[in-house]
Amino acid sequence: TEALLEINDLNTWFYTDDGVVRGCDGVSYSVARGETLAVVGESGSGKSVAAMSIMNLIPNPPGRIVSGEILFDGKDLVGMPLAEMQAIRGNRIAMIFQEPMTSLNPVMTVGRQIAESLRLHQKATKKEGWAKAVELLRVVGIPAPEKRVHDYPHQMSGGMRQRVMIAIALACRPDLLIADEPTSALDVTVQKQILKLIRDLQKELDMAVIMITHDMGVVAETADKVAVMYTGQVVEYGSVEEIFNAPKHPYLDGLRRSIPRIDLDEEELYTIDGIVPDPLNLPVGCRFAPRCPKAMAICHEKQPGITRFSESHHTRCWLYGKEDAHA
Ligand code: SF4
Ligand code: MG
Repeated sequence: TEALLEINDLNTWFYTDDGVVRGCDGVSYSVARGETLAVVGESGSGKSVAAMSIMNLIPNPPGRIVSGEILFDGKDLVGMPLAEMQAIRGNRIAMIFQEPMTSLNPVMTVGRQIAESLRLHQKATKKEGWAKAVELLRVVGIPAPEKRVHDYPHQMSGGMRQRVMIAIALACRPDLLIADEPTSALDVTVQKQILKLIRDLQKELDMAVIMITHDMGVVAETADKVAVMYTGQVVEYGSVEEIFNAPKHPYLDGLRRSIPRIDLDEEELYTIDGIVPDPLNLPVGCRFAPRCPKAMAICHEKQPGITRFSESHHTRCWLYGKEDAHA
């Protein structure tokens, strides 16, 4: 399948007073129409930085896309003139975030916020926008939408607010939806409803979805393909079957163990010993080496390269890369 979005060797770095943080350090991934790519990793792994790079929302300074390309429908978004980018952002590419309260305007009714978005992107009139807002609230499963359309965000539950965010994102019928931890603030039942909602809408609109999450349960439930990130790099990439049935990187052993534990809090999710290294003081060899039960001498000396197992499946680990060193 042809990629709708394709990131190639993306480097997004942050120039801090203490040094350079490589938020994205040579990231590549792609997603096609109708497909869901899950980008998974602990916080600080670079999964949100990649998403913000796609949206051209990296704060500059201190951040900057140093190199690489972000091809959307064949056009590079890196260095695209702002006006052209704005026509794509929120129109062909929409994004929803973990905490809708921070993205919703607290002093504007949800109906008006949806209507404004429609007017901005679809040039709808005020009346059309309002009618469409009611319809969209119905689509995302908000009961009595003709009443709730007059609510302010604080009058709604967290799950309802996330539905409103999805309604706003969908107002423009995007080709690509980026969902950054969309359900991690919600309880498990509501989480399942929201994921199902996104899936249903994806089918209807034939949207590509990038699902950013730290939760392997969400990955199992939503993904066609998976990019596993660690310290700014994709350390394993493959179809959901390859990632769950034939994982290669030792980091995935710990991640997979976290699946049955989706009832626990975020902090309790990880069963991997040790912590993510300081981005300003990364290990010289494999960045996972300090936590890796399979680390060998070479792992502490040199960074592993990429080893491919199939067209879709590859990893970055010396366990498989030994032969490559001689090639
Ligand atoms: Fe572990 Fe070595 Fe593979 Fe890194 S390269 S994940 S330290 S085995
Ligand atoms: Mg994040």
